[in-house]
Amino acid sequence: MHKSAMHNPTLVINSGSSSLKYALISADNQHRITGLAENLGANEAQIVHKDLNGEKSVIAISGANHKEALVTILEILGDYKPIAVGHRAVHGGHEFSQAQRVSAAALAQLKRLTPLAPLHNPANIVGIEAVQAIYPQLPQVMVFDTAFHQTMPPKAYRYAIPKALYETHFIRRYGFHGTSHAYVSDRARELTEQLSTTNNASKLNPSSEGSKKQGWLTAHLGNGCSAAAIYEGKSLDTSMGLTPLEGLMMGTRSGDVDPGLHAHLKHTLGMSLEDIDAMLNKQSGLLGVTGVSNDMRAVEEMAADNTHPNQADANLALEMFCYRVAKYLAALSCALPELTGIVFTGGIGENGADIRARIVADMRHFGLQMDSAKNAKLIRGQEGSFHGDNSRYALWVIPTDEEYRIALETRQTLGL
Ligand code: AMP
Repeated sequence: MHKSAMHNPTLVINSGSSSLKYALISADNQHRITGLAENLGANEAQIVHKDLNGEKSVIAISGANHKEALVTILEILGDYKPIAVGHRAVHGGHEFSQAQRVSAAALAQLKRLTPLAPLHNPANIVGIEAVQAIYPQLPQVMVFDTAFHQTMPPKAYRYAIPKALYETHFIRRYGFHGTSHAYVSDRARELTEQLSTTNNASKLNPSSEGSKKQGWLTAHLGNGCSAAAIYEGKSLDTSMGLTPLEGLMMGTRSGDVDPGLHAHLKHTLGMSLEDIDAMLNKQSGLLGVTGVSNDMRAVEEMAADNTHPNQADANLALEMFCYRVAKYLAALSCALPELTGIVFTGGIGENGADIRARIVADMRHFGLQMDSAKNAKLIRGQEGSFHGDNSRYALWVIPTDEEYRIALETRQTLGL
């Protein structure tokens, strides 16, 4: 691959507590170098790097922290110098309704938001400061998971609790996975516009015939799961709330529970708030219901294995997972003036053909009709629709690309 292929690239960084994911993306989005620094701070720290041709190499960086890992990553990237860095930032509170160029003031604001994302925001700050220390002149942008959902109306983002908690402490719903919902809904709009000029897409949704406006329900189903209602490119409601715990059942997160559960567990079992929080975030979801695994593939295998002692638990977990997604999508449709279709994305949404089929079946009053052969083929990064000819609404699988979206918003923010 010639060096000029990587023209004016943007470096996208997703910094976690002990990991740092990176992607160097060319301005035309045709070329990408990616990698993951993991186990940072431990003896096993290493970088798994994939070059322009997709070839993998592993570099040991024993004991390295985020900054030391980044120095090595920039060395590996060598001549491919980024012109800007975009950081995935988790919680932008109500202060950030769009991507923000890093400045002393913006960084201070992000630090003030730490109580809203105590695990994630400090990791983002470490990543930003590591780049500042190495390349002080390089422009950096924070792209928030929450920003896309700042268009939600108050009826969707307020909790029915005393208003002082909102007015003084900004306790409200924020929503997450914004870059993913933004990417797949934009892509769905683009693909629908292309199709409507070429074939019978107008057969779908006769109620909105003649209207060019598009309303999408997007289901991001991965280890974390959320759904959103997006109309004309704006998020109108979503399933996650103040924290990413609200809403759908996830890998290890419970999603919705009765808000009275905390008090009940404290009174009856003497559990502390910290224990309850850890239980709902780390020991619940697919893991909690099966008692074995947070991984959907493993759950599906368990459900199909007549000899597995947890087969019944796995079947129940699958039923609960799909029912909860269907129930949320149905509820979120209330936010949309018009509905064009549903988009599935995330590791489960992009690969779990059986899960998609069950979710569609659970939405039995929506007039959805699925093309099973098309559905079965949409796995491993395939993009396409799987509605049948008589479906009232479109059904799409669109592999998410949060890194591309972060690079795009970074360039837009900097006017590049
Ligand atoms: P993500 O967080 O987006 O990487 O998604 C991770 C989830 O996707 C895990 O629960 C995986 O088990 C699930 N997943 C990946 N491949 C498949 C598959 N072929 N069928 C069902 N789930 C899958």
